[in-house]
Amino acid sequence: MKIIDGKACADLILEEVKAEIARFNARPGLAFILVGDQPASETYVKRKIAACENVGIASFDCRLSEGVSEAELLAKIDEFNQESDIDGIIVQQPLPSHICTTKLIAAIDVLKDVDGFHPLNVGRLLLGDESGMISCTPLGIIKLLERSKISVSGKEVVIVGRSNIVGKPLAALLMQKGRDATVTVVHSKTKNLAEVCKRADILIAAIGKPKFITDQMVKEGAVVIDVGINRVDGKLVGDVDFEKVEKIASKITPVPGGVGPMTIATLLNNTWQSYKRRHSL
Ligand code: NAP
Repeated sequence: MKIIDGKACADLILEEVKAEIARFNARPGLAFILVGDQPASETYVKRKIAACENVGIASFDCRLSEGVSEAELLAKIDEFNQESDIDGIIVQQPLPSHICTTKLIAAIDVLKDVDGFHPLNVGRLLLGDESGMISCTPLGIIKLLERSKISVSGKEVVIVGRSNIVGKPLAALLMQKGRDATVTVVHSKTKNLAEVCKRADILIAAIGKPKFITDQMVKEGAVVIDVGINRVDGKLVGDVDFEKVEKIASKITPVPGGVGPMTIATLLNNTWQSYKRRHSL
């Protein structure tokens, strides 16, 4: 099948997590820290909380005003670090400009860093050690490729976007010994971007620009993974011009229903893994 069904794959992972949680009669906990009034963040958190409920993870929802101080936020993180019922902590980004995001992430207990953004977890990943927490979107993409039986070994993979949450950790995962992809990461200062993209056996778009990847940038038969989530006229669209690219790609993820559900499933699985590690299961 040409369409890579991320929703179906994510549902399977969620069923597995739910069954394991029930088997251990466990109650993992995931805490959300949300600052200010941001409709997009609000939607993401609501979706994550609903998913938690479905699999048997308790959610702890902490909402703070836009004017909250860094010290107050650090104190909240410390409280959640100490709370034994909490296995994962998420600080929903973006944060107001007076807050240092890096400082907050570094304050999260590394064992509860289910987003995989803590410098220790990022460092471990770069050193080839995947025993720490790994960022949910990149790990979700790896799982989606694996479960769709798409091998990356020896393939030319081009990632468009070099963000800390998608492009960089995804490049690290793909080039890891054992996965063995040949990875190129391109960004807004890359010359001949279209030509580089056209080399890709697997093209991954994480840009944040609707329909940026056109059919002119894709090799015949390439696998195309669309990470982008953009709202255009009230509709969700990816970074790939799906209608055109679908005609030449061998496989492609849709938006919605591609990478997005895999991100949430991976977050819940990370929370469950954290619970197991903290309870020596
Ligand atoms: P980001 O931090 O804004 O990074 C965007 C990247 O795209 C940057 O590296 C930027 O290059 C590059 N870029 C921007 N314009 C470009 C251009 N004209 N040509 C080439 N490269 C260009 O974004 P992000 O957080 O990685 O997110 C990317 C997209 O994925 C967004 O739509 C976001 O909503 C979505 N997303 C989806 C999920 C999911 O679960 N599906 C998860 C996370 C993010 P520079 O570095 O040079 O500026």
